[in-house]
Amino acid sequence: MKAPICEVCLKTDGILCPADEKKLQEGIISELDVKVARLLYKLIGDVDMEFKKAVEAGDLVVIMVGEGDVPITIGKAGKNIKALMRELEKRIRVIEAADVNSPEDLKKLATDLLYPAGVFGVNIVYKPGGGHYYKVLILSRDRKKLPEKPQLLEEILSQIAGAEVKITFI
Ligand SMILES: [Zn+2]
Repeated sequence: MKAPICEVCLKTDGILCPADEKKLQEGIISELDVKVARLLYKLIGDVDMEFKKAVEAGDLVVIMVGEGDVPITIGKAGKNIKALMRELEKRIRVIEAADVNSPEDLKKLATDLLYPAGVFGVNIVYKPGGGHYYKVLILSRDRKKLPEKPQLLEEILSQIAGAEVKITFI
């Protein structure tokens, strides 16, 4: 299993090795990443999959994994998800990770996360004072299909994208 912490840290609890501790201090990884990585390792073990990152908002944790790694992360009949829910006392979603460098990247990610609601499009909006945010367009008729409250999804998407994300109904 590939993770943002090293194999030794995956297999132990408590303190991190100096290299991983440095990553934590510098904000390259979060406490949640460490926790989820170790839990996943306990559940899945040494298999060919990659855990990339976890983000949380409200009572939802979104776990991002490598391409094609969603089924193995979820486990048979969702057994890993159930175990993670018990340990973290949060609801869990697993999606494929993607770097967000463009509206197209964000559209792919939002399509996964917002399913079964459809994503009509993603616009990039440049602010007058500099900087930008992303506007995720959802058809009004899909509002009820959103898997979570729009505010929660905006928080999660903003963390993943590393930029502000707003959901707009059209
Ligand atoms: Zn380490």
